Amino acid sequence: MRETEGKGILVLDTSAILNGVSPHQMGETLTVPEVIQEIKRGELHRVLDFYGDILHVRSPSKESLDIVTGEARSTGDLNKMSSTDIHVLALALDVKGTILSNDFCIQNVASSLGVKFQGVNSREIRKRVVWKASCTGCGRNYDPDVQICPVCGHETRRRGKAISDV
Ligand SMILES: [Zn+2]
Repeated sequence: MRETEGKGILVLDTSAILNGVSPHQMGETLTVPEVIQEIKRGELHRVLDFYGDILHVRSPSKESLDIVTGEARSTGDLNKMSSTDIHVLALALDVKGTILSNDFCIQNVASSLGVKFQGVNSREIRKRVVWKASCTGCGRNYDPDVQICPVCGHETRRRGKAISDV
């Protein structure tokens, strides 16, 4: 992760966001609309609250989509990749960013294209964020899996706390 600190542009896929990659210590952080839609359909949709407007949503160019699709076909990854995967990788290509993904196909095609990538379950990344659940009513803090405050009955909100010393 160290080489992506500073001004580099990061492109996050669904796995990166659900793993709580912290955008706060980094440069510009981007994803594609398809990733946002995937997350909003899932149980962990409230993770997006944590990112707020720090996470910028942008669609890739048609040209990059074509390049990525062609490369994925040539590496044999295309039939294992979702449309979202292709879009994420194309955006990373557009902005010359570093893609954060656990997906082996994305990493493989990224490598083939010369797009920098990082896995998001590396120890370095996990150290960056500590998750907790904070009650929206009384403000008490709980383990991140607690969804309803046992004291006042309000919903909790998951919050990530960035750790500076990686
Ligand atoms: Zn409460």
